Amino acid sequence: MTAQLIDGKAIAEKVRRQVAEGVVQLRMATGIQPGLATLLVGDNTASATYVRAKQKACEELGMHSVGHHLPADATQDQVEELVRSLGSNPAIHGILVQLPLPGHINEEAVLNAVPIEKDVDGFHPVNIGRLAMKNRKPLFVPCTPAGCMMLLEESGIPFKGANAVVVGRSNIVGMPVALLLVQRDATVTIAHSRTRDLADVCRRADILIVATGKAQFITGDMIKPGAAVIDVGINSVPDPSKKSGARLVGDVDFESAKEVAGWITPVPGGVGPMTIAMLMKNTLAAAKASTDRKRISE
Ligand code: NAP
Repeated sequence: MTAQLIDGKAIAEKVRRQVAEGVVQLRMATGIQPGLATLLVGDNTASATYVRAKQKACEELGMHSVGHHLPADATQDQVEELVRSLGSNPAIHGILVQLPLPGHINEEAVLNAVPIEKDVDGFHPVNIGRLAMKNRKPLFVPCTPAGCMMLLEESGIPFKGANAVVVGRSNIVGMPVALLLVQRDATVTIAHSRTRDLADVCRRADILIVATGKAQFITGDMIKPGAAVIDVGINSVPDPSKKSGARLVGDVDFESAKEVAGWITPVPGGVGPMTIAMLMKNTLAAAKASTDRKRISE
């Protein structure tokens, strides 16, 4: 069997078109241009690339974007101070703190300083808490997990009663995507580095979401025939045939997995473009919500 490819680029493009239209409508109705502030601390090359891509997306969709870059030795106070000043800036509707932060920075305290109504990454504990609670609605859903869900939805994958396995339990991907799957009535198993017989656990999955940060870790023999496989991983591996000497691969071994799975996301071109598209969607939603708040307070 050869899996159907889930085209993240095309699905993300559809989201981006809708966001661009929403930006025009909001500007016409209220004069407000959605604004995103990005905050990068230190010189992590991958983080700098992600931040640039997010700023570029803002420009392409008619949003305002401001990039802040603090040195790797910035203090906790400096980082929190900047986040707080962005929090009170009315031209900024979304604040994105690019993770990971340098080791000496208390990530939790920084994320707590982001006002919940500007938490377009959805990482504020109140947003995550609401995601975990029945009949509560977060203001924003974390972008990568929301993107994974949309890829499955757009591919027509049924959630109700499906066995879903999420490999990875990080705050930014594994845990929130598992919560989203539960909300959609899937039966969810969260696997991690202490899981016993991971292959057996994965082989029970109708929906398999992999976010381990381990290149080509999940192989075809660990996948149930016909399963939908979402590969969140982005890993650079040496490839002498490339000019750069490296290429990107996922956490799933695409070549063996595609022979067994029913649907699969490629890397690149799967989850990656969705993350940015969902960030743009959240930023537009934050700007719209700010106009509603303004109206209420007037
Ligand atoms: P992370 O914080 O390092 O978490 C990795 C998770 O994988 C942990 O829960 C860990 O388990 C689990 N794990 C590690 N080794 C394992 C093993 N041998 N067996 C089973 N589970 C194992 O990573 P992350 O931030 O979630 O990111 C995961 C991947 O997604 C990375 O490749 C990252 O680059 C990529 N990513 C992509 C996007 C995108 O937009 N496409 C966005 C974010 C992240 P423990 O908890 O037990 O340690």
